[in-house]
Amino acid sequence: MKKLFMLMILIVLGIILYNPIKNMINKEEMKEPDKFIYEDLLNTIKENKVNVSDFTIYGKWLNLKGNLPNEGNYVVVLKNNDEEVTIDTKVDNGNFSLATKINEGLDLETLKISEYLLLLKNKDTNEYYNLINTTKYHDNTYYTITKNGKNNKISFKENVFNNIKYWTITIKEEKLPSDVYDIVIDPGHGGVDTGAGNGSYHESTFTLDYSKALYDELTKAGLKVKLTRETDTNIDHYGVGSRTGIPYETKAKLMLSIHLNSSGNSYQKGVEIYRAYNSSNDYAKLIADNIVNEVGTKYSNNSENKIIDGVYMRVYSKSDIQSLTNDAKKKNYEPYVINDHTTYYYFIRETGGIMTGAFSDGRNPRYKENPYRDYNQGVEAYLCELAYISQNDDLSLVRNKKDSYVKALKNSILSYFNNETTSE
Ligand SMILES: [Zn+2]
Repeated sequence: MKKLFMLMILIVLGIILYNPIKNMINKEEMKEPDKFIYEDLLNTIKENKVNVSDFTIYGKWLNLKGNLPNEGNYVVVLKNNDEEVTIDTKVDNGNFSLATKINEGLDLETLKISEYLLLLKNKDTNEYYNLINTTKYHDNTYYTITKNGKNNKISFKENVFNNIKYWTITIKEEKLPSDVYDIVIDPGHGGVDTGAGNGSYHESTFTLDYSKALYDELTKAGLKVKLTRETDTNIDHYGVGSRTGIPYETKAKLMLSIHLNSSGNSYQKGVEIYRAYNSSNDYAKLIADNIVNEVGTKYSNNSENKIIDGVYMRVYSKSDIQSLTNDAKKKNYEPYVINDHTTYYYFIRETGGIMTGAFSDGRNPRYKENPYRDYNQGVEAYLCELAYISQNDDLSLVRNKKDSYVKALKNSILSYFNNETTSE
């Protein structure tokens, strides 16, 4: 009797629970077939599209430029089914862009993990337009700076759905490949090229010593750092594995080239930070300010190529161009097309791809070809002339205040990537 009672309870329980359990098991199969994630969004956009004519990544800065479909109030947005991120956009004369300077635009370090369509939005009508990449550059990837041992990989991809072209940007956490680095530190000169000097003191000795110390500090702070040279050796300027090749090959975001200045004028002293043509002063200024404050040195009193206190920019002058033209005639090659918009220092110009006007194609037999000159993704490079080795007060600072110079450089680098600066 007891057994029969238990059996009846089991049968009743079975009947009660049969449907919920069955539903649970079948839930996956019973769902409607998955729609393509952007189907609704793309169907509302349909044939609305605008062409992107410029697509560049300089350091951490993304820039896009293109034509507006018509007069109006437009912004670039990153959009998916859940959210819309508005990007600062400049609209001018029927064109849009994310920036007018090469080191401005969308800071790729600030994007959170997600995937978005790249769209242009008319703020008056709330209409969206697909951005169509008409440049020759496709499928770029960018690795964010290492933070707490982690990196995000940012990928640009172009696709088609129902004949509608669209462009996505995907941000996901991914381990940094072994050959990708956060930053390049370039100890100027080396080997037979000792740089400037004063008595028994040589620029190349200081630049290597300082760069190694900076390497240690940055590594301790969790960054993955590449030195262009680790010993007292003369390295190639151009080509694979060279001073200008390494920044591309490592996909580094920032490069500081460490140098000491020299002048026949014994009054000339202080800090000079050189930036590329058509870049903003902000970051160069920050480096100069940090050095002045930390070391107790001064902004340089050199007025040549000076933009503002501590910030310098050198382009080819008329006489520079003349001497290059003469050199070309002598060596029998077609002179480069260079003007007063061309950044002078090769490790700033040749490391920034098309953004900095890299041009070395090897026609000058003195230099190898820069195989990366046509890239749309390059490092944001600065020449840091820390002091004048030729001036005795400055030489004394460089000999005695290495820790302060290194700390100032370290803090400048950490703030580029919005890391907390340490205050020890
Ligand atoms: Zn130098």
